[in-house]
Amino acid sequence: MTAESRTSQLRTLIEKLYDRVPLYRSRMKALGVTPGDMKSPEDLSLFPFTVKQDLRDAYPYGLLACDRTELARLHASSGTTGKPTVVGYTRKDLDAWAGAVRDCMKTAGIRSDDIVQVAFGYGLFTGGLGIHDGAEALGATVIPASGGFSERQLLLMKDLGTTVIACTPSYALHLADLIEERGLKLNLRLGIFGAEPWSEELRRKIERRLGITAVDIYGLSEVMGPGVAIECPRHEGLHLQDDLFHAEIIDPETGTPLPEGEEGELVLTTLGKEGMPLLRYRTRDITRILPGRCSCGREGTRIARIRGRSDDMLIIRGVNVYPSQIETALGRVEGLSLHYLLEVSDRQGLKELTVCCEAAERLDGDGTALLAERSRQELLALLGVRVGFRLVGPGSLSRSEGKAVRIRNVA
Ligand SMILES: [Zn+2]
Repeated sequence: MTAESRTSQLRTLIEKLYDRVPLYRSRMKALGVTPGDMKSPEDLSLFPFTVKQDLRDAYPYGLLACDRTELARLHASSGTTGKPTVVGYTRKDLDAWAGAVRDCMKTAGIRSDDIVQVAFGYGLFTGGLGIHDGAEALGATVIPASGGFSERQLLLMKDLGTTVIACTPSYALHLADLIEERGLKLNLRLGIFGAEPWSEELRRKIERRLGITAVDIYGLSEVMGPGVAIECPRHEGLHLQDDLFHAEIIDPETGTPLPEGEEGELVLTTLGKEGMPLLRYRTRDITRILPGRCSCGREGTRIARIRGRSDDMLIIRGVNVYPSQIETALGRVEGLSLHYLLEVSDRQGLKELTVCCEAAERLDGDGTALLAERSRQELLALLGVRVGFRLVGPGSLSRSEGKAVRIRNVA
């Protein structure tokens, strides 16, 4: 991609938003910029951001750049509070999305002779239908299992000879427990896991226990759904769909663009979208753009695996702590299962954190005390701050069939 062609793609988008979306026109006017100011990719930083709250404020159709009648599908992400955020797709948008997921699957090493079981939820959430359409576009055999109903997932995997599983990494871990318990022999060879930030340690655990290659797929419904970026089996970062997205990394505090290689918040601008194109969407996801080229030889932008969401970052006695770092520490302790929950309480304005994690096996009193102590030491070594730790028995934390709830606020 040359700088000229990227500039022209971005200018086309900005012209469209200026003409068709009142929110963007008024923001550009307030900043004193016009589409004509877009003369090089660096000029993008002159233009306004879009944030999640903008989608809520524009609920349901306020950010459409096309007529409502041109929409072929609507998805929505559940809001933890109040109304969901709605995203509209034209037919062309859906085709581009399916093409993006298809290309991601090829990058991951999935082939047309694979049997792909989609265990992401189908519905308003983009995970299920997004992966489904891409796998069909690839020419694979697709099993639309949707999320949950674990016994049925296992039955389908075994009887239909599933070779590829797609779900959240926390659910993959749960399936691995059940498969081991029952001693099932399966044909699985690859898994694509996403919709949650997850650690290398969890990846290694899933790969070893399921006997598969596990790759990380990234996406978010606001800009499309799954398929924004994916790892190849080399696991050297995620290959971004450069023809559909322009990525920037900014300082989450100041909004200033950061140079290549520095960690910050990922900002995505959609290219070529018709229904709801977004300019400089702040994902809240923390990552960096990796310099150099992947050893697989593919060119283009690569991003590091998501360290976490800036919203999920906890400040414990002045130290920034991401749930994924906790997962990394727990993953280094032999004897833990990586089914875990973070309990956060507030003591006079200071956050206190207690990590609850399951033991992989039932232990006696001495074994429990020893494992808990090893876990506390590993957490302290990795986080640089002492946090509470509670070891619980196997199977005692609730299992999620979709995105795992990792943080619970307790009084
Ligand atoms: Zn690669």
